[in-house]
Amino acid sequence: MTPFTLQPDHFTLGAMMARTLSLATLIVATATLACAQEPPAYVPPAFVSSGVPEFDAWRTRFAFQAVQVEKKDRAIVEATLTGLVPNLEVTRLNEVQPEFVRPIWAYIASAVSPARVSQGRTLYAQNRDRLLGMSTTIGVPIEYGVAIWGLESGYGGNKGNMDVVRSLATFAYAGRRTALGERELLAVFDILARGDATRATLIGSWAGAMGHTQFMPSSYLSRAVDGDNDGKRDIWNNPVDALASTLSYLSKAGWKGTEPWGFEVNVPTGFDWSLADGTMRPYSYWKSIGVVRDNGTIPDDMPLESSVRLLAPAGAGGAAFLVGGNFDAIRSYNASDSYALSIAILGDQIAGKGILPTRWPTSNPPLGRADATMMQGLLLGLGYEIGTPDGQIGPRSRAALQALQKKESVVADGYPSAAALATVRRVAARAGVSYLPPMPSSPVTAPQSRPQTPATRPASRLVPPPPSKVDPNYNGPAPVKMKW
Ligand code: CA
Repeated sequence: MTPFTLQPDHFTLGAMMARTLSLATLIVATATLACAQEPPAYVPPAFVSSGVPEFDAWRTRFAFQAVQVEKKDRAIVEATLTGLVPNLEVTRLNEVQPEFVRPIWAYIASAVSPARVSQGRTLYAQNRDRLLGMSTTIGVPIEYGVAIWGLESGYGGNKGNMDVVRSLATFAYAGRRTALGERELLAVFDILARGDATRATLIGSWAGAMGHTQFMPSSYLSRAVDGDNDGKRDIWNNPVDALASTLSYLSKAGWKGTEPWGFEVNVPTGFDWSLADGTMRPYSYWKSIGVVRDNGTIPDDMPLESSVRLLAPAGAGGAAFLVGGNFDAIRSYNASDSYALSIAILGDQIAGKGILPTRWPTSNPPLGRADATMMQGLLLGLGYEIGTPDGQIGPRSRAALQALQKKESVVADGYPSAAALATVRRVAARAGVSYLPPMPSSPVTAPQSRPQTPATRPASRLVPPPPSKVDPNYNGPAPVKMKW
């Protein structure tokens, strides 16, 4: 490549000097002007103390960051942060790590309860025609939006009653969600600046999710849409806007209108369960090895070339599913197989199709946190890459367990059960590997069971997922505030 060169006859030395001088003058002048125009650095006001010095220090620093660095509206930032006091209940809930791991069949039984199905069907039937156009435009079947509505807020009957700003500020100043708290508060300032909501409207779950389908503030900004074309995106009080926003969320998460989310399947005798490893393979492949749809009322409309994976959330002894990209779109709403499967099944039930999975190893529940940590520690000691033992069995722990099971010629389903732990213990003993769980850094002050009041339902999407979003106390239809 020939570099561009200035031709000497373009300008004389004198002209060059003159240009250089004038350029220098211009830079100095511009810098001077910039200095003159630069407003003085923002100084946060002296907020009245919350009584928690660490919180007060965070608030002052964050106010500076929001106004000076992020260029948020000064009056809104100050008004929003004034009078805030951290919520100790939110702090407690944020740190809770329950020992009990809820089996997926218990989660689904609660999420897809007869009452929730029945109420969903009624709302679906009442409003199908008016919502169908919206659903067709967005390209996501309305029943999955209704299912999310049902699971997130009991169809609007339980949207949460916590001050979202206070919750987010509590996250932001200390604990394991500081970055999330600050990011979502910045989104709150934008929502208020747009006039989409008032400070008093920002009520929701303890973890900051708001409205009929429980959007986090940043999700609201990026995903909420105006479903009834009245010029407002009111996810707080208008179910049509909330449903349209949720369908839009699924659409942007990659929903393909040409595919179902998946379905329950049967596998042939002697099946190699290590294929349930998360790998997406063409549907034609699964059919060729005898993985076939269970009977149901959904037509087999999965295109043969679609990429799907085998999901066996409770191992070889439980129901198995082929799931595709649409399942992952649901999962992006809340990164949990139990959640995504519940939404998928509930949506099908609401639309009058599909079957309820019944094949579950109810006498063989998943390991609790302590045993799961032990299993991870032993796998780590045996050389498997599982990250840091934390008692949460994710894809890497499952893959490691499957690999070990396969070596041992036992069913390689990666299901973290007592039997699986026994196998791992046996291999570890043979190899002389042991694991001593670390001592807790501080006395456990968290409660032994998961909080179950409506106000303490777990976090929504974009929050590192707590174990379950389903309100286990849901026993029947909640009063629905309809505004169609
Ligand atoms: Ca609207």
